[in-house]
Amino acid sequence: MARTAVIYHSEYLNHGVDDHPENRRRLEAVMQFLEREEVLSTPKVKVLEPERASVEEVTLNHDLEYVEYVRALSEVGGMLDPDTVVTRGSFEVALRAVGGGILAARVVAEGKFDNAFALIRPPGHHAERGSGHGFCIFNNVAIATRVLLKDGFKRIMIVDIDCHHGNGTQNAFYESSEVLYLSLHQWGIYPGTGWLEEVGYGEGEGYTVNVPLPSGTGDQEYLYALEEIMTPIVDEYKPEFMMVSAGFDTHYSDPITAMKLTTIGHRKVADILLNAAKKNGGKIVFMLEGGYSISAIPKSIANILCLIAGIDKSWDDKKVEGVGLEKIKKRVEEVKQVLKPYWKF
Ligand SMILES: [Zn+2]
Repeated sequence: MARTAVIYHSEYLNHGVDDHPENRRRLEAVMQFLEREEVLSTPKVKVLEPERASVEEVTLNHDLEYVEYVRALSEVGGMLDPDTVVTRGSFEVALRAVGGGILAARVVAEGKFDNAFALIRPPGHHAERGSGHGFCIFNNVAIATRVLLKDGFKRIMIVDIDCHHGNGTQNAFYESSEVLYLSLHQWGIYPGTGWLEEVGYGEGEGYTVNVPLPSGTGDQEYLYALEEIMTPIVDEYKPEFMMVSAGFDTHYSDPITAMKLTTIGHRKVADILLNAAKKNGGKIVFMLEGGYSISAIPKSIANILCLIAGIDKSWDDKKVEGVGLEKIKKRVEEVKQVLKPYWKF
């Protein structure tokens, strides 16, 4: 039986413009690579085509007024903000991306698959309740999480490994203890949120965890920070479901950011997340966010897919030195100090 669901639809190519970093080539290159390397043709993986989400589902996390605004803008084309383009038909593509995230969550929640990877675009984690930002129209991971909450899950952990902070996802669950949002991101770049003292509010105090990292953070430093901060929290929180906002713009070759992870590093990050999920029943879904190096994201995704599906294949990368562990150890200590009232480190 297939253990991993890959969620994809060719409609995902019908959004955006070619000279934008978040363009159709990203997913085209991923699918071509996965087919050429025979990852999708193994019995361990099954490709599922999602439906478009309904407006009712999207409004679990967004204002109806905003949804209708995107629908209208998408009939003529325009911009949601200076970075976020809407082309004709983007509304339908964005609904299909939301549908992809929901399908991934559902098939894992129902036990039909051990895990899933939603290969969707546009990405979602910058989208707020009433506005689109940073290449994102609707917040795919937040909506899928709200569907899981409706279905009765009580402790959902979202780990955001995109190079940018997921402001939209953080804000969606800032006052909730039923969703723990943990993000590692490059500090000093877009969107400017995600400082370590942003820890949640009210019922949600302590359930937002931010690990801002310096430019030049490489595999060794990133993996250290992830283990040191996430593992004790997972052991205490015991999430019933793990959602991963899987961005790959932490790669050293990414054209718009300055971290130094490799595709092997991405695989090791996924391994830590997979093991964290396995300690708590194993339910885990990866959802594509950013990543703009056309040569890197296919290998990173292939590496993670093979890892979670149990396929004995991997793709190597060149060796890249990061900024050094000393600098990261200091930051990790600062994060722990801020979080000590809430978690046992
Ligand atoms: Zn990003």
